[in-house]
Amino acid sequence: MANKIDRVPVREQDPKVRATNFEEVCYGYNAEEAQLEASRCLGCKKPRCVEACPVGIKIPAFIHQVLEGNFKGAYDIISEDSSLPAICGRVCPQETQCEGSCILGVKGQPVSIGKLERFVADYNRENEDAGEGVEKMRTGVCCEGVGKVGCCTVVEEDVCCEGAGKDGCCGDFEDGISDRGVKVAVVGSGPAGLACASDLAKLGYSVTIFESLHKAGGVLTYGIPEFRLPKKAVVEKEIQKLLDAGIKIETDVFVGRTVTIDELMDKEGFKAVFVGTGAGLPLFLGIPGENLNGVFSANEYLTRNNLMQAFSKDSDTPIFRAKKVCVVGGGNVAMDAARTALRLGAEVTIVYRRSEKELPARAEEVHHAKEEGINFQFLTNPVEVLGDENGWVKGIRCIRMELGEPDASGRRSPVPIQGSEFDIEADALIVALGTKINHLIADTTPGLETDRKGRLVTSETATSRKGVFAGGDVVTGAATVILAMGEGRKAAASIHRYLEGKEQ
Ligand code: FAD
Repeated sequence: MANKIDRVPVREQDPKVRATNFEEVCYGYNAEEAQLEASRCLGCKKPRCVEACPVGIKIPAFIHQVLEGNFKGAYDIISEDSSLPAICGRVCPQETQCEGSCILGVKGQPVSIGKLERFVADYNRENEDAGEGVEKMRTGVCCEGVGKVGCCTVVEEDVCCEGAGKDGCCGDFEDGISDRGVKVAVVGSGPAGLACASDLAKLGYSVTIFESLHKAGGVLTYGIPEFRLPKKAVVEKEIQKLLDAGIKIETDVFVGRTVTIDELMDKEGFKAVFVGTGAGLPLFLGIPGENLNGVFSANEYLTRNNLMQAFSKDSDTPIFRAKKVCVVGGGNVAMDAARTALRLGAEVTIVYRRSEKELPARAEEVHHAKEEGINFQFLTNPVEVLGDENGWVKGIRCIRMELGEPDASGRRSPVPIQGSEFDIEADALIVALGTKINHLIADTTPGLETDRKGRLVTSETATSRKGVFAGGDVVTGAATVILAMGEGRKAAASIHRYLEGKEQ
């Protein structure tokens, strides 16, 4: 019986070894393990996992293909709904989404959907590189071939692939040339922007992504560390697929400074703009001593390591190698910063003001952090950063907390226990309290409505400015990769309807 098999464990790097390197922690399934794990899926008629997936991936259908050994078929099914499966398979919070709804999870372990998604994406990428199996994604709408031999008929919504080079099928898309000749700008190259650009290119639009940093990928590139999401092997390859599909990416363009949205539309001929600029502005504690040397925002710490390779001794911008690091916060960002500091040789303590139960980070990341030797101080909050005579951090004064009544988020709010202050020795503090929206785009785009937190206000991804659409963290506030991607895809559909004149 399928559901009698235990969940197939996934191979991982030994915690002691991986705590000293930046290589990926999880090795993922091989084909045999993936097929065995796939055999656990009950193929529910009303699959709750699909409902729980923000982009509605047809999970039982792709798992069935894995079971059959048709990994290309599985990839095609996932690709109908997700343009970044190798990434989502690695970083999605599956335990609260698809796997959290799996019927097998009621009495035992849910199907390992994330690891199966990752296997399918990795297998197809590796075999594509070897010149087998997967066809390259092509852009452009196949017009001539519709209805003729060898030509797929879903060209209005999708990429014509089957007909390439065959009778009656135009070959334009082989070159990645867009047929429509309509330019759309995407601002920001994170998951929202990439997903939006990918869908627009498939619909035949000429898409240019403008990115303020020197590398594309958003948080996937500058935020999430290599040991969770390899850059060269995964992120850069996924982005290369978009470039192969004819999407242009212009880096080092800070929209709002280098060029405004109005200039893109009025002077550069873009007929619509998608804003996916994320929520990258760090929040701080606002306590005494926060300006001392050795205090970092998690964003700066991670960006300098991931994007600027500051961990390398050869880096032009090496980072301060602290001996004892204190990280404040309990989300994925805090775990990533702590595990990065550990790999740079520090002894690390995470300070979190609620209890372990309330930790917002993915369960897998907390488990990995503990295995690697990160210390946790729960129900603890910093009240002052202590400095030495040279202006460097020498410790963090903290206070113990207890949980009171639930707050607006539904979580019990932490209340300080008076007189419980104590000091933690540290020469660096990394603040990972969350992020907010940079208001540059709103400030330089007249008529673009924002809410009191600076998030862009949208209706079905359309902003208050005609032709300007938005999605991802810049609309929702800091959220998840899959939600950002889902919003990017919705926006592509809205932009298409708008440009077709079906929507104002
Ligand atoms: P971003 O990924 O932030 O991309 C926005 C892009 O826009 C950036 O490249 C930025 O440089 C660019 N930009 C900004 N302003 C401009 C401008 N004016 N002009 C041009 N370009 C601009 N989510 C998960 O699901 N799982 C995880 O495990 C996870 N871990 C995380 C770890 C870290 C360290 C962080 C910071 C976040 C994590 N998240 C995770 C959250 C997730 O990464 C984000 O929700 C997601 O990346 C948001 O996508 P986005 O496209 O909206 O924005």
